[in-house]
Amino acid sequence: MKFSPIDESRLKFGFYPTPIEEMPRLRAVLGGPRLFVKHDDYTGPAFGGNKVRKLEFVLAAAQAEKADAVLTIGTVRSNHARVTAALAAKLGLECHLILSGDFPNTPASLWLDNLYGAKIHRVMAREERASTMQRLADELRAQGRTPYQIPLGASTPLGALGYVRAVTAEIAMANIHFDAVFHSTSSGGTQAGLLAGMEMAGLSTKVVGVSADDCAVEIAARVAQIVAGIGEALDRIFQPAIEVDAGFVGEGYGVATPEGNQATELLARTEGIVLDPVYTAKAMAALIARVRQGRFAADQNVLFLHTGGQMALFSADGNKFGERQI
Ligand SMILES: *Cc1c(COP(=O)(O)O)cnc(C)c1O
Repeated sequence: MKFSPIDESRLKFGFYPTPIEEMPRLRAVLGGPRLFVKHDDYTGPAFGGNKVRKLEFVLAAAQAEKADAVLTIGTVRSNHARVTAALAAKLGLECHLILSGDFPNTPASLWLDNLYGAKIHRVMAREERASTMQRLADELRAQGRTPYQIPLGASTPLGALGYVRAVTAEIAMANIHFDAVFHSTSSGGTQAGLLAGMEMAGLSTKVVGVSADDCAVEIAARVAQIVAGIGEALDRIFQPAIEVDAGFVGEGYGVATPEGNQATELLARTEGIVLDPVYTAKAMAALIARVRQGRFAADQNVLFLHTGGQMALFSADGNKFGERQI
């Protein structure tokens, strides 16, 4: 199935264009270029984030294949799992989430997965997730069902079209040229879509993906593969300059860093913007470091793509459904 980047056959769940806001008080503290944020934390369903854009294309394919159940993987705090659960509910699809990780308290995302009616399958290790998803899909098929498996982060070429579209239909239409865009990168779909979209729109904007977990080589390889897949789907060859900065991961995925915490406090106190500790705080820390190093001139424009994730700030313990809280 071929999809054009602004294909009207994608499912329309998000509220677009997401706003672009200037951050003058942050600039006053840091000096350097004009700074902007694009609020993909406001995409809409399931408290927003970048997964909404990707799932609009992926779930359209699931529907086209007449799926009656969707399965996906992630951690117990996964934004992707939460958004999948909500959109599956909206489509009337059974949703199976295979989730790894353990927390002393109940992550708000996991609590919401349950609220959206998803069937949760906990596994001990990340490595068990994909095989467990395959086994569950086989079991459903044996029962005469039509399951649709969504890979980690919906970061397939199809899912990445959500970010091709974010560029061609939104960023390219803004009345301002951005010299660079910074964003958090992990499974690679967001970065791949941004890069392909910039090329399609003829924009020279540099895309800097800041790793939330893996080393730069690993993520860049994933991004390259997804970009190649987008090229196949759209009948063109892309030549992206893939830049992944893995200097702000700290101790690892999901572990907050001092630089990230400082970035979070600075954004909250200068602009009233809230970052999340897993992804956006680390990406913003990278942007702040480069601006402080004088890597951008005062007449340049730098965009931060806020990919969401703030649900990771909250736990749901004591928040028993239906109980009076006050
Ligand atoms: C999934 C996610 C990312 C990473 O996006 P990928 O497309 O997987 O690289 C960044 N930020 C947030 C908040 C996310 O949930």
